[in-house]
Amino acid sequence: MANRDGRDFDVVIIGAGVVGSAIARYLSRYDCSVAVVEKGSDVGGGASSRNSGVIHAGINSKPGTLRARFCMEGRRLLIDWCDQLNVPYEICGKLVVARREEEIPGLERLKRDGEENGVPDLRIISGDEAARLQPGIRCVAALHVPSSGIVSPYALTIALAEDAAVNGVVFFLDNRVEGIEPGEECFVVRTDKGILRGRWLINSAGIHAGEIARLIDPEAPPLYPCVGEYLILDRLVGERISMSVYPAPRVDNAGLGVHITPTTEGNVLLGPSNEYVADPEESRSTRPTMKRLLKEVRVMWPDVPESLVIGAYAGVRAKLTPPDAGGFGDYIIRRTPAYPRAIQLIGIESPGLTAAPAIARYVIDDIVRTEEPFEPKPDRMIAIRRWPRRFDELPEEEKQRLVSEDPDYGEIVCRCEGVTKHEVLHALRNPLGVKTLAGIKFRSRVTMGRCNGGYCLPRIVDMLQKEGGWTSDSFVLRGPSSPLFVGRVVEGEDA
Ligand SMILES: Cc1cc2nc3c(=O)[nH]c(=O)nc-3n(C[C@H](O)[C@H](O)[C@H](O)COP(=O)(O)OP(=O)(O)OC[C@H]3O[C@@H](n4cnc5c(N)ncnc54)[C@H](O)[C@@H]3O)c2cc1C
Repeated sequence: MANRDGRDFDVVIIGAGVVGSAIARYLSRYDCSVAVVEKGSDVGGGASSRNSGVIHAGINSKPGTLRARFCMEGRRLLIDWCDQLNVPYEICGKLVVARREEEIPGLERLKRDGEENGVPDLRIISGDEAARLQPGIRCVAALHVPSSGIVSPYALTIALAEDAAVNGVVFFLDNRVEGIEPGEECFVVRTDKGILRGRWLINSAGIHAGEIARLIDPEAPPLYPCVGEYLILDRLVGERISMSVYPAPRVDNAGLGVHITPTTEGNVLLGPSNEYVADPEESRSTRPTMKRLLKEVRVMWPDVPESLVIGAYAGVRAKLTPPDAGGFGDYIIRRTPAYPRAIQLIGIESPGLTAAPAIARYVIDDIVRTEEPFEPKPDRMIAIRRWPRRFDELPEEEKQRLVSEDPDYGEIVCRCEGVTKHEVLHALRNPLGVKTLAGIKFRSRVTMGRCNGGYCLPRIVDMLQKEGGWTSDSFVLRGPSSPLFVGRVVEGEDA
C-alpha cells in the first residue's frame, strides 16, 4: 500500500514476543509491508524470555485443542527455524516422575494424551531406569518423553525479530499501543509516540492481549496473570542434569509443576512457581518462593546443589482460566466479529514458545492469505540472519583463525561466560537498533555468569562509550525507566 509518511502498512502486529516476532518473520517472506509495535525497548521482554525454554513434545495439551495442534506442528517448525537461524536447541528428552505410587495414573493419563496427539516413543519406566537415564533423580516411576527438548528462548525471539527486520519488517520499539480506531480502509493504531496505520491488525500482546482486544471488541475475555518464579544454577552444575525432569501433574495446577531444566547455555533452571497476581507486570523474585522451589525440587533431586544458585527471574502466564479454576484454557485465535481484518490472539500460554511458528503459519496462511494473496518473495530477495556462534564453544583452531583475522576476538570481556569484545560489538550493532544493557546481555551473554557483571560491567561500559557513543545518561538496563548512572530515582515535586 502507498506509504504516505512511513506509517502505512499492510499489516501491523502489536507485541514483539515470540509469537509477534514469529508472525513478523513469516510475513517477511511475502511481498507486503509489515510493522511491529512493541512497548519495550527490545523484543522478547515479556513471557517469551521468562520461561523454561522447553520444546514441548505434546503430552501436556488436551487432544483436539488448538494448544495440542500448534504444539505438535510448532515443534517441527521450531526445529527447522532454529536450524535455519542457528538458534541453540537440543532434543534432550524429558522425564515426568511419580514420587509416590498414587501419582502413576497421572503418568498414564499423560501417555494416553500424548499418544493421541501423535507424540512418539513414550514409555513408562521404573524408578531405577529413570535414575540411570538421569542420575541423581529419585522417583518410583517415570514417563520418558524422548522428543522433548530445550531452546534458548531469548535467542529464539531476538533471532526471529532480527531476521524479520533484515527482510524489511519495521519495528517500532518503545511504542505503547493506547488506542485503535477502525476506519473504512485501515486501522489507526495510536501509541504514546504517534500513529501507525494498518490494513490488517494482529494483536499478539501476551498478557495485555485481552485489554488490547477490548479496544475494538467489548466481548473479548479477560486474562488472569499468574507468576512463575525460577532459580538459576551456575553452569558448573550443567553436566549433572542432561534432561528436563517434571513432577507428575496435578489437574488443578495452573502450570506444569516445579521442574528441573537444563538450558542450552549449560545452566539449570528450577521452577516455576505458580501464583495468580493482580499486576500483569509482576516480575519480582521472593525469598519465600525461592525456599519453596528448592523444597519441591529436593523431593525429586535430593542433592540439588543450593550453593550454585546464581540468580532468579519470573515470568507471567497469560491465563484464560481464573484462580478458582486453575488448569489450562485453550488458545483463542480469531477475527474480531465487527472488524474481520483484526486478528486477536488471546491466552497464548504454555506451550506458546513451542507453538509460535505454527501459530504464525496458521494466522498468515489460514486467515490473512485466504483474502490477501501476498506474493511470496523470490529466494534471492531473502536474507537469513543467523544467530552468532559462541566463540567460547568453537574448536581451538577456529578460535586461532578468528583471532588472527580480528584482534577483537582475542580480548575476553566477560570471564565467566568467555565473551569476546567482537561478540559485544556484534550485539551492539543489532539490526533492531536496541540500545540497552539487557539487549547487549541477551545477544552476547555478558554479565550472565556467576559474578553477575562484577568483573565485566566496567569494561563494557568503557567499550560502549568508546565504540558505541553511549554517554553516562544514555545507559539504561531495560529501557528509559531503568537508568544505570544518571536519571531520576525519586518521583515527586522536590525530586
Ligand atoms: C513461567 C512460564 C513458563 C513457560 N514455559 C514454557 C516452556 O517451557 N515452553 C513453551 O513452549 N512455553 C512456555 N511458556 C509459554 C510461553 O512463554 C508463552 O506462551 C509465549 O512466550 C507467549 O508469547 P507472546 O509473544 O504471546 O507473549 P509475550 O512474550 O508476553 O509478548 C507480548 C509482547 O507484547 C508487548 N505488549 C504488551 N502490551 C503492549 C502494548 N500496549 N503496546 C505495545 N506492546 C505491547 C509486550 O511488551 C511483549 O513484548 C511459559 C510461560 C511462562 C510464563
